Amino acid sequence: MRGERFITSLNDGRMVWLNGMKVTQLDAHPAFRGTLATLRSLFDTLDDPQTRDQAGYRIDGREAYAHSSFLVPYTSEQLAQRSRAFAYWSKQCNGMMSRLSDYARSFITGWYAARQELDRLEPGFAQKITAYYEQVRDNDLFLTTAIIDPQIDRSSGLDDHRIASRFLHVVKETSDGIVVRGAKMIATGAPYTHDFVIFSFLKLEQAHRQHAHVLIVPANSPGLHIVCRQSFASDKEHDAPLSASYDEMDAVLFFDDVLIPWERVLMYGDADKVMSLRAHATANALAFHQNVVRYVAKLEFITGVTFAVAEAIGVSGFLHIQEKLGELLTQIDSIKALVIASEAQAKVDANGVLIPELSYIHTARNIGTKFYPRAVEILQQVGGGGFVQIPSSIEDFYGTISGLMNQYFEGATVSAEKKVQLFKLAWDLVGSPLGSRHELYERFYAGDPVRGYANQYLMFDKESLTAPIWKLIKESAKRGAMHTEIK
Ligand SMILES: Cc1cc2nc3c(=O)[nH]c(=O)nc-3n(C[C@H](O)[C@H](O)[C@H](O)COP(=O)(O)OP(=O)(O)OC[C@H]3O[C@@H](n4cnc5c(N)ncnc54)[C@H](O)[C@@H]3O)c2cc1C
Repeated sequence: MRGERFITSLNDGRMVWLNGMKVTQLDAHPAFRGTLATLRSLFDTLDDPQTRDQAGYRIDGREAYAHSSFLVPYTSEQLAQRSRAFAYWSKQCNGMMSRLSDYARSFITGWYAARQELDRLEPGFAQKITAYYEQVRDNDLFLTTAIIDPQIDRSSGLDDHRIASRFLHVVKETSDGIVVRGAKMIATGAPYTHDFVIFSFLKLEQAHRQHAHVLIVPANSPGLHIVCRQSFASDKEHDAPLSASYDEMDAVLFFDDVLIPWERVLMYGDADKVMSLRAHATANALAFHQNVVRYVAKLEFITGVTFAVAEAIGVSGFLHIQEKLGELLTQIDSIKALVIASEAQAKVDANGVLIPELSYIHTARNIGTKFYPRAVEILQQVGGGGFVQIPSSIEDFYGTISGLMNQYFEGATVSAEKKVQLFKLAWDLVGSPLGSRHELYERFYAGDPVRGYANQYLMFDKESLTAPIWKLIKESAKRGAMHTEIK
């Protein structure tokens, strides 16, 4: 089964740092064990005849299945197949893992789909991306992105040597490739990724050619250090069921003179070309589509937990609680509707690819930054102090005070033990380190939300809205003048 193959493949000499130590065997470490078990089961869905059509597709009529994030959509059915796969994997982990590789893989699929156009921009690109796309697809490689430069001093830029020397840049060109130095901040899933898709979010000037690149970097590259944040994983399934299985881990990457072979340098040295690749509409539409499809599963999950909490403590009949529960449903429907709209209004682009309509996806990504934090707030408002009245362990149900436990923890509609389990699950959403990380993730994963909204305004065809206003003003002025003449 490919889940096992995936786990074994991670013992490849990568340098993963956690708590000041190098982690030598990821699947034996408590910080990664639970998450890797989740990933193993997701990979296995591609081998299971019951599930493989939900997660994957047959490559060119071959027996083998690949994940549908590799499927280039030329028809609505193929686009729907991609959507189903994103939804399926997300639902399998209750929306609690957002970077299941399908986002980063979609960039590769998009660049591959647009290879002829991109080859005109950078001769040789088509051959490079085709070889890489086939390798990743046929070997189930796990990918993640690392785009943001380290948060050192945001008021300063690349003209400041202190910044330029720490942001990822090329220090040497050789016949084998380029040597890069610097750091990238936050790569979710970094410890168990095979390759990183690396580029900068900055709008670079031509003068900054050393910083202008789009790279594929193997996780076991010599000189690459994967520096993990504190682990939020728990080994107590009963107490923290989400933290036990879904800590997808985030890491900073240090590149201590890492050689990137030319076949993994997708673009380098020309700021405009790099921008054309990293902002390419085909790749962005396919990748951002994954972001919003998976979000539905997450909103459905927190809504389900909130409904259950409201019923368990007998508050679902109160009007203000119903108003809040209704608000959660409007969140789900809003994102679902935007997904449907983006797919229904998908257009065939210059490369013949059917890409989802990006304006709806941008809207979903932007409003989504406010939805999940609000959903967490609603869960807190509904559960009140119930989250902190839960006992430290459900073991107490089987000990000396078992009778008292069953009496005093009883809920309106559920037994004491079930109620305690429910509130532990809910606490993992609203109060655990993993829960806080998810709230932060939804605020920021799509970039700075302030600039996200501003970009939506800047990119919009504003005249389509202002022209009717000026027309109305002109016509009313004309009518006013005629009225005065008649008088
Ligand atoms: C949990 C988590 C996981 C993530 N995973 C990934 C990942 O896998 N891959 C990846 O590439 N990225 C990932 N990100 C990074 C994410 O893309 C960034 O956090 C996001 O782009 C915001 O950038 P920043 O965190 O550097 O914030 P900053 O840009 O430093 O912003 C901090 C504050 O300063 C303000 N600010 C800063 N600069 C400006 C400016 N020039 N103009 C106006 N306001 C400014 C912002 O509005 C914000 O309020 C992840 C983030 C989180 C929280």
